[in-house]
Amino acid sequence: MTLSEQTQQGLSTPADQSTATQTEVVNFYSFTLPDLEAFLKKYGKEKFRAQQIFKWVYEQRVTDFDQMLNLSKDLRSELKNLITFKLPPVLKHLISVDGTQKFLFDVRDGNSIEAVVIPSDDRLTLCVSSEIGCNMACQFCFTGKQKLKRRLTADEIVGQFMVVQDSLDKEGKGRKLSNIVFMGMGEPLDNSDNVFKAIEVIHSPWGVNLSKKKITVSTSGLIPEMYKVAEAKVRLAVSLNGWSDEVRSQVMPINKKYPLKDLLDECRRYYRATGEKITMEYVLLKGVTDQIDHARALVKLLRDVPCKINIIPFNEHPGSGFERPSDETVQAFHQETMKLGAQVLLRRTMGRDIFAACGQLTTKNVERPETMDISNSKIGGTNVRSFSRG
Ligand code: SAH
Ligand code: SF4
Repeated sequence: MTLSEQTQQGLSTPADQSTATQTEVVNFYSFTLPDLEAFLKKYGKEKFRAQQIFKWVYEQRVTDFDQMLNLSKDLRSELKNLITFKLPPVLKHLISVDGTQKFLFDVRDGNSIEAVVIPSDDRLTLCVSSEIGCNMACQFCFTGKQKLKRRLTADEIVGQFMVVQDSLDKEGKGRKLSNIVFMGMGEPLDNSDNVFKAIEVIHSPWGVNLSKKKITVSTSGLIPEMYKVAEAKVRLAVSLNGWSDEVRSQVMPINKKYPLKDLLDECRRYYRATGEKITMEYVLLKGVTDQIDHARALVKLLRDVPCKINIIPFNEHPGSGFERPSDETVQAFHQETMKLGAQVLLRRTMGRDIFAACGQLTTKNVERPETMDISNSKIGGTNVRSFSRG
């Protein structure tokens, strides 16, 4: 059975956990190649079998041991009781008028997480979640309102990629995910072991085989963990969202523990180690971060940090207490930063009608309408397509 057939039939594991009560049953998507080699060795199996199995799964998309014909029959039936290919089931799949797609995944115990596919001219970016909820409590972020329930496992992170790619394959248009950003729910560096394991699987030639330049980890500024982004040689994005310690501490409590000076020092260290510029994400909050003198203070703050600034107009969510600035204010802020010589990009809001824009993701337990009426806004009417599975 191929991965595609597996998802279609709602079957997630060829060897259900109940068939191997006493033995450990491991989810394949949590394995790196060395992990599987060590696992096989533990059971007295040949190391090179691991490479064969990885080829079946990530190249051929075969997830049924019975179809892995270069393995002996005995080995296949033994492995069926030890390894599952369970992927997080899709509870809901929404498609925005602008082509953005949102997936709501069931991650057990009544919890769910969201991942978003964002199309652009030359890219198809997947924005994945790393945690259920988030403890960083940023004031403007909907996820931050939901306390951390659990950190996602590596297989749940890799699983988001596999299920979404599988869904794209079913469209039959040959669309492939080209980039992955850890900008969904949760703080990736608060779950660094699992996030970097998932990155190894996604990057490695024996896994998904996506270039490191196409993988971005976004952090609210967990300084002690940031060196790992440099070590993994993937791209770094930092949620700055403040032009002074005072403002940043007001909207991002983490700034009280890790203030701007230390954060920017760590960013410079990242640049020295990798030669890659950092993406500074800066949310425009009406009256708080969106004024012309804030633009000037921001450019001054970042003048000796090799970076690009990504301006993100605030996306509304119920009860946030913040407002989105007018388009004129957003334009003026953008112009001012450019005039001052900053490398800056105004991020287009995508997927607003399906609550898929930055900072709008949630677990399904939180009260919120499923779609938003944007008929009066610039991206048009609410012609949303919705698919429910499971
Ligand atoms: N926890 C990580 C990654 C997830 S948040 C981090 O904070 O970097 C991804 C981005 O969404 C961050 O840059 C954050 O500043 C931004 N964001 C959060 N809430 C938002 C909102 N309501 N509107 C616009 N951007 C938001
Ligand atoms: Fe967590 Fe990032 Fe939201 Fe802050 S912005 S609450 S770190 S997800």
